[in-house]
Amino acid sequence: MKFGTKAIHAGVKPDPSTGAIMTPIYQTSTYVQTAPGEHQGFEYARTQNPTRSALEENLAALENGKHGICFSSGLAAMDAILKTLNPGDEIVSTNDLYGGSYRLITKVYEKFGVKGKFVPMNDMAFLEKQLTKKTKLIWIETPTNPMLNIIDIEAVCAIAKKKGIKTCVDNTFASPYLQNPLDLGADIVLHSATKYIGGHSDVIHGAVITSDKNIADQLYFIQNAAGAVPGPQDCFLILRGIKTLHVRVERACKNAKKIAKYLKSHPKVNKVYYPGFKDHPNHLIAKKQMRDFGGMVSFDLVNNDTESANELLKNTHLFSLAESLGGVESLIGHPATMTHGSIPREQRLKVGLTDSLMRLSIGIEDVDDLIDDLEQALLNV
Ligand SMILES: *Cc1c(COP(=O)(O)O)cnc(C)c1O
Repeated sequence: MKFGTKAIHAGVKPDPSTGAIMTPIYQTSTYVQTAPGEHQGFEYARTQNPTRSALEENLAALENGKHGICFSSGLAAMDAILKTLNPGDEIVSTNDLYGGSYRLITKVYEKFGVKGKFVPMNDMAFLEKQLTKKTKLIWIETPTNPMLNIIDIEAVCAIAKKKGIKTCVDNTFASPYLQNPLDLGADIVLHSATKYIGGHSDVIHGAVITSDKNIADQLYFIQNAAGAVPGPQDCFLILRGIKTLHVRVERACKNAKKIAKYLKSHPKVNKVYYPGFKDHPNHLIAKKQMRDFGGMVSFDLVNNDTESANELLKNTHLFSLAESLGGVESLIGHPATMTHGSIPREQRLKVGLTDSLMRLSIGIEDVDDLIDDLEQALLNV
């Protein structure tokens, strides 16, 4: 089955008791047993819920994996993966990692003896030198936030396999429609389904997909034992979002391409970061491992200061100033003061994260209106 068909049909079937075509929201905490231990496969809703099961099967299909395991948020999903590690283990991770992921590794897990090492992943020989006997997990995020660097998933996974190290790819920014890390050699895929998968900015949700039975068993165990499970209504909303995932992402990519081009030729714009440009340093890797170049575009201003940035942010009307991404509506963010505010200025300037850098999450509105909005907002900066 191809992607669009899987998005709509995988894991879901008409409800056996009524024929309802849409998976019902099984809003229940427990299930009646006919005799002790005699039941229909459902005992208690932390352990199993039919709405969640349908979503898990659907997500596994979208990532070409065997097992999908859902959690109450993207970070709860990551937390479950980290719980499979032991004291003394080391994670080698992308250096421009999502802030919440960095915080989870350094502020929560380090005190349990799991150490994070954050390195650039554009030079494979360098990466290989960072791996030690203690390295048990390589954590990749690509495209990265907000500089939209692309990491070669296949190349990193090949090194990891040689050394017997597991790899996990945070695939949130690409979505399963654009990129399938398991096909490129990754062992685990993580999604903040809050973003593109849900796609309507109305639910927090996370998922892990793997084809490795041993990893899946550990994660199902942790899902039940630690209990960071999503409620059935959240699972329903994610399932509903997925039905249009391919159509939404396709449109967002198309809009992003036009907006990136528009910004590149604008006299007040300094630099545009978009992996679809031929002169993007990782363009060829993006082309190799992604179906299209995504809906995220970052740029900074010729007047490269916070005042100009604030002026622009004040003036956009269709682009709302907010954290998050991947929804149907367009968002604008200012990483230097929002998501990356805790990173020292010197350090962020080194990677191009300047005072005026803007991150756009392009929605699926009519692109001409989005460009008009940017045009009028750029007038006064
Ligand atoms: C949002 C996000 C997360 C965290 O997901 P939540 O659902 O907010 O917990 C993890 N990784 C990336 C890349 C994200 O954008």
